[in-house]
Amino acid sequence: MKPARFDYARPTTLAEALALLAQPDTAVLAGGQSLMPMMNLRVARPALLVDINRLPLAGITLAGGTLRIGALARHAEVLASPLVAQAAPLLPQALALVAHAAIRNRGTLGGSLSLADPAAELPACMLALDATFVVASAQGERRIPAGDFFHGLYSTALAPGDLLLAAELPAAKPGWRFAFQEVARRHGDFAMAGLALALGPNAARLALCGVEPGQRRQPAAEAALTAGDLPAALAALGRAEAMDSPDLPAAQRIHLAQVLLRRAVTQTEAADAAA
Ligand SMILES: Cc1cc2nc3c(=O)[nH]c(=O)nc-3n(C[C@H](O)[C@H](O)[C@H](O)COP(=O)(O)OP(=O)(O)OC[C@H]3O[C@@H](n4cnc5c(N)ncnc54)[C@H](O)[C@@H]3O)c2cc1C
Repeated sequence: MKPARFDYARPTTLAEALALLAQPDTAVLAGGQSLMPMMNLRVARPALLVDINRLPLAGITLAGGTLRIGALARHAEVLASPLVAQAAPLLPQALALVAHAAIRNRGTLGGSLSLADPAAELPACMLALDATFVVASAQGERRIPAGDFFHGLYSTALAPGDLLLAAELPAAKPGWRFAFQEVARRHGDFAMAGLALALGPNAARLALCGVEPGQRRQPAAEAALTAGDLPAALAALGRAEAMDSPDLPAAQRIHLAQVLLRRAVTQTEAADAAA
């Protein structure tokens, strides 16, 4: 199928991009790996496509204990970045499971987070890593904690005219362990279920993908893990509000999430033993 008619702009400055996005019925084009199929299927029919690929939004920096990843950083770049490996080792674990090389070469951090696919790995990682998102519009810039950014199935705090500029993550502190686990039908497929875990001294952050329709942390499971009570954490995941579909019933998604939690905890224990 072909997309409906649309106008196209490729701004080179942020100010120009934000002015274009302030017009009605626009869409941001980043890697295009999700938007172009959606336009071809006419699920998305923007009047104006604002291609952000010429904006300087791809940088990855580590300064003052904060890792900043630009929205245009490709999955492949984040996966290969030594700074990311050092400051946010959860991300390469997860990104190795995102799609295939061709899609990772084009797909962007900002595109994945803005789309908020319930099965996507990166939103879960951002929650487990306590990220903050930097968002700009013609009205100015603001910061949104990951916990306030995701509003449910394909829904975020981004309003029309908003552009996600970057994710900022506190760099991993000593004593913290990170594990990303998932089950997919084939390597590179979207996850049937995935789990991102950050486990520190007296603290835990845990988020799922592919299980619930939205993206959120699991406070009851986190509290149980902090108390060292894995059975209670597993029981807490048993109360997840899982999606239900004929190919993957809710009970099966919950079972997978519990299996993944056991694996993730085992992985962090192995990392502890090796340290
Ligand atoms: C075959 C296939 C398999 C895939 N498998 C996986 C997988 O296993 N796991 C996974 O997580 N993903 C997977 N993906 C999706 C892939 O990760 C995409 O990269 C991602 O969904 C969107 O990123 P993008 O840069 O291509 O965004 P685009 O397609 O360009 O945009 C996606 C949406 O986000 C908006 N947007 C993009 N950037 C911004 C921004 N900076 N600010 C505001 N809005 C913005 C767009 O307007 C659009 O609505 C797969 C895709 C394909 C085609």
